[in-house]
Formats: sequence, C-alpha cells, structure tokens
Amino acid sequence: MSAYTVTNPATGQVEKTYPSATDAEVDAALAAAQNAYVQWGRTTTKAQRAALLAKVADLYEARKQELAETINHEMGKKLDEAIGEVEFSASIYRYYADHGEEFLADIPVEREAAGSAVVRKMPIGPLVGVMPWNYPYYQVARFAAPNLMLGNTILLKHASLCPASSAAMERIFLDAGFPKGAFTNLYASFDQTSAMIADPRVRGVSLTGSERAGVAIAGEAGAALKKVVCELGGSDPFVVLGTDDMDALVATAVAGKYENCGQVCNGPKRFIVLDSLYDEFLAKFAEASKAVELGPLCSVKAARHLSEQVAQAVADGATLALGDGKNDGAFFAPTILTDIPAGAPARYAEFFGPVSQFYRVKDEAEAIALANDTPYGLGSYVFTIDPRQGERVADALETGMTYVNEVGADSAEMPFGGVKNSGFGRELGSLGINEFVNLKLISLD
Ligand code: NDP
Repeated sequence: MSAYTVTNPATGQVEKTYPSATDAEVDAALAAAQNAYVQWGRTTTKAQRAALLAKVADLYEARKQELAETINHEMGKKLDEAIGEVEFSASIYRYYADHGEEFLADIPVEREAAGSAVVRKMPIGPLVGVMPWNYPYYQVARFAAPNLMLGNTILLKHASLCPASSAAMERIFLDAGFPKGAFTNLYASFDQTSAMIADPRVRGVSLTGSERAGVAIAGEAGAALKKVVCELGGSDPFVVLGTDDMDALVATAVAGKYENCGQVCNGPKRFIVLDSLYDEFLAKFAEASKAVELGPLCSVKAARHLSEQVAQAVADGATLALGDGKNDGAFFAPTILTDIPAGAPARYAEFFGPVSQFYRVKDEAEAIALANDTPYGLGSYVFTIDPRQGERVADALETGMTYVNEVGADSAEMPFGGVKNSGFGRELGSLGINEFVNLKLISLD
C-alpha cells in the first residue's frame, strides 16, 4: 500500500490510496519547477504574481466547504475548525497579494562614494517544502504565499496522511493560472525528498514538523549548502501571574488548549500558575475540560503515542488529575498531569494532543525559570493584570513569540517562528518573504 493514504481517524476506514511518485515523476517535477522559475518567476512582474495569489485566495473561499471536508476525512479536524483553517489560509494568500509589492520594494543604499545602488529582492529558485498534517492548508500557505509572490517555485512533499488536501492545493494553483511547475505536489518518499534537497536546481528547503524530521532535513540541506527554515515543535508555557476575571481566563485557556484537539505546535502545553491562583484555576480548567467535545487525533498511531507518553509520566511519578490517559482508537479525552517530578522526561517532551501539564510556582522568577526549562522555544503566553509585568516576563521568556493576555492571535501579519529546538527562520508578516530571497546589490556608477 502506498504511504499516501486517506484513513479517516474517526472511523478507521481507509478511504483512498494514492500512488507513490516514481523517480521519473520527481525528476520531471524538478525540471518543471526550474523551468517555471526561469520562465515565470524571473520574468513576471510583482503585480502579475500578486494577481495570481489573489485568485488563489478567491478559490480557497469558493471551495471552502469541499476543502474543509477533505481535511475532516484525512486528519479528523472538526468541520467548523476546518472551515476556519481554509479561511485563514485564504487570508494569507490575500495578505501577500495585497502587501507583496510593498515588501519587495528596492532598498536604497546610501553610497558614500559617487553613484547609486539598490538592494533588489529577487527569487532564488525552486524550493522543497516538507509539511505536516496538523494544518494541511495553513502550513503550506505560510510557505507558498510569500515565495510564489517572490517568484520562487515550490515542490511540496506533504504529510503522507494528507494526499487529498495536497492534490486539492495543486489544483487551486493551476486553476488560478499559475504555470505548470510553479507549485507541484509529489507523493514522494523520504529518499526522493533527500534527492530533491540534494539536487542543484533546488535552492532552499522549508520544513514544518517534528524535531526528528528537523534534524534529518536540516542536516541534508546543510550538506547540500541550502538554506533551510525549520518550524518544529514546542512545549509552550502558559504562565498565569494574575487575573481579575478567572472565568474568562479559564475560557481562554480551554479554547487555546483544545483547538485542533491540542495538535498545535504553539498551543499551550505547560500551565505554570502562581500558588495563590493554582487551585482555583486547575479546578475550573478541569471542570471546563470535561465539557469539551473533541474529535479524533490525526491517527490511531498518534493517539497511542500520546497514551504511552502519559503512562511514562505517571510511571515516573506524575499524577493524573483528569482522564485515564488511555486512547480509544484515535480518540483521546482531555487529560491533565500534575506533580511531574523534577528531571522526569515528560517535562522536556512535546505532548501533541489534549494533554496539559500543570505546575505550581511561588513567584514570577520561578515561573520564568520553569517556563524556560525546556529544549523548545516556540511560543509562550503570559496572563497578568500588570502590563509592565507582561512585558518584563515576555522579555525574559526564551521563545520566538510571547502573547500577553491572549491566545490564538495568529494572523497573516504576525511573524511566526521559534528559537532553540523549535527551529529557525520566520514565516508570515513582512519577515516571511525574506527567507528565500536573493538580496541582490545592484550598483550603478
Ligand atoms: P513528522 O515530523 O514526522 O512529519 C512532518 C512532515 O515531515 C511529514 O511530511 C513527514 O512525512 C515528513 N518527514 C519526516 N521525516 C522526514 C524525512 N527524514 N525526510 C523527509 N520527510 C520527512 O511528524 P509526525 O507526523 O510523525 O508527528 C510526530 C510529532 O511531530 C508530533 O507528535 C509533534 O510533536 C510534531 N509535529 C509538529 C508539528 C508542528 O506544527 N510543528 C506538526 C506535526 C508534527 P511523512 O508524513 O511521509 O512521514
């Protein structure tokens, strides 16, 4: 059976299998990507490329329902959340259509000698994107929109769980009027992906996925002297230092925690709560968690992995404050772990699902120390009634993003990315278009 299969996690049914790419198909795709880069990426105007992206946004909107149903079947996302993801993806294409020209404007150089010079933002060539299943459209949009605006072309190796949504995206680009080779979806194996990364026509690689994949893919990119952007996992702290509305805070925490069934790289995973607020926050969070209706995780394998992680944490001395820690097929109920002992591996691992860790701290300094005691550095959340404390703690947290008094603030204009083992590079906003760019100096005497 091909690795690229739609298995509905809610039912366990294999719904459709897709043929793996042949080496000849991969080679043809590389040639088409290079050809599109030369014939289209380097010759079209910014306005022409922006118009194509605007059309892509329109098509996402027009096909919203069908696109949402596709990922509901592939990876179990609830339909309302799936619709939200399609709309968010459309907004990203629209954002770069609207702002791309401005982001790609020449940067004037003040020459000390006579003559003039500018830095012009030029494309660099075909890029390989390796993308995950948790937000099949959004993760691709963050990479594809700025790079197609720039004139780079894209070879997509999507997650093997997502063959239908990746085909739907390729269709959208073609229907919008992008030339063949501007965006190619490939049901590629790891070996074929490695071969593409090593191929001299490919000029950069972007990965969103696990740390393990990051080590493999960044290593291959480095060996081939290609730039790589890695958006990897996280174990984001949700630091509670003060509130004047506990119920609203709990509602915010619950909404952030259970979005996408907790399969969110920058979702809250470690709740670090001031002693005086801990008991009430935990009790109310647990109560509200019981009322949450979750869909399945993306696969039975993912749910089993999560239950093994919880079992290990309990064997190491943690307490299950909510849930029994066991998966039911691909389903996994809201789960809370408390009293995770110092040094236990659970403190340093990413739990990708509806599992929350709770920690009690005596003051701000202990909260910061605990929040930073992780190999990851993607996002972080701080809740406080003191704006100066919010900014002070934000400065102290070793993460790529800190959100003060809010969750789910992700938006097309907000740069996204991490530090430490959460990766490097930034997506979205004006920064997201500067990763795979030739900042070309043109000096005129
Ligand atoms: P992976 O990192 O394995 O998958 C992400 C993508 O990388 C998929 O397209 C996968 O392909 C591909 N991939 C992985 N290794 C290689 C390789 N050596 N060469 C080429 N492609 C590769 O994530 P999983 O699906 O296994 O999820 C496991 C964990 O990853 C989660 O529990 C979570 O911790 C983390 N994760 C983080 C995400 C994030 O948003 N930052 C998203 C998804 C996962 P294929 O599907 O064919 O294996």
